[in-house]
Amino acid sequence: AIIAGIGISLKTRGIFGSFWSYPTVLFLFFILPRRVANIYICALLAVVSAMVYSSYGPVVTIRFVMTMLLTILYSNIFVSMTGRLQGRLLEQTIIDPLTGAFNRRHMESCLGDAVERNRRNGTLASLLLLDIDYFKRINDQFGHAVGDEVLKGVAALIKQRARKLDLLFRIGGEEFILFLPDTCEDDAVTLAEHLRVSVAESDLLADRPVTVSVGVSELQVGESLGAWVNHADERLYRAKEAGRNRVVRGSERLGESPASLQVEPASQAL
Ligand code: GH3
Ligand code: MG
Ligand code: MG
Repeated sequence: AIIAGIGISLKTRGIFGSFWSYPTVLFLFFILPRRVANIYICALLAVVSAMVYSSYGPVVTIRFVMTMLLTILYSNIFVSMTGRLQGRLLEQTIIDPLTGAFNRRHMESCLGDAVERNRRNGTLASLLLLDIDYFKRINDQFGHAVGDEVLKGVAALIKQRARKLDLLFRIGGEEFILFLPDTCEDDAVTLAEHLRVSVAESDLLADRPVTVSVGVSELQVGESLGAWVNHADERLYRAKEAGRNRVVRGSERLGESPASLQVEPASQAL
């Protein structure tokens, strides 16, 4: 329709009719994906150039083609720059700048999706709530900058040891959630224990160990996001109460006492 309109305009208004091609280029970039817009624009350029050539000869056609090519080039540069900016903005809304983990807002959206999938298809999911032990003391003793480095180090260690599809979120000062899709509680506990040992054995600080306590929670059928996270929070609290540097899992599902399900810290377990 646009090409037909430009054709009619060329016949009735002369060469000025071809000027409608320039806003058309911008319009197509605005409403279509970049690749599709470029295909339509090439077709537009070919057809309108042929019409201009048949009525006005080669000199006018060359000018028309050159100015159109420049318009298309600048439009492509503009679209790719705004696309990159948009990507960076989106990144800033979901990523914690200190640790590179996803932030709390993104956690709510991802875990909300997992709850929905579980409700529809019974898809398994677990989460680990990890909290650095006595982090305030690290800040007080070594300063805030060193505290920040420890936060970055712990996040890097978790990301390195976690599996490809697991997602790490920083949900508070020194609290992280590791979301484990398609994972039952037994496997989540194994991974949690692996992470706990990795952090405890790392040399994040030269003269004292850094440890984490972990609450593990498998998403139960019909459970809300709030209840799922609360279960992990209660277990994290129990891990802290029991002396820190340990993993606590749920007991409800198996009907066992919480104490029997606690995984002992490395020094006692190994
Ligand atoms: P617990 O073993 O019971 O978890 O004790 P804790 O000291 O780790 O916990 P608490 O909640 O008392 O202290 C958390 C500290 O984390 C307090 C706060 O100053 C510090 N913090 C929060 N965000 C940041 C941050 O971005 N950088 C640094 N360096 N410290 C932070
Ligand atoms: Mg802490
Ligand atoms: Mg905390």
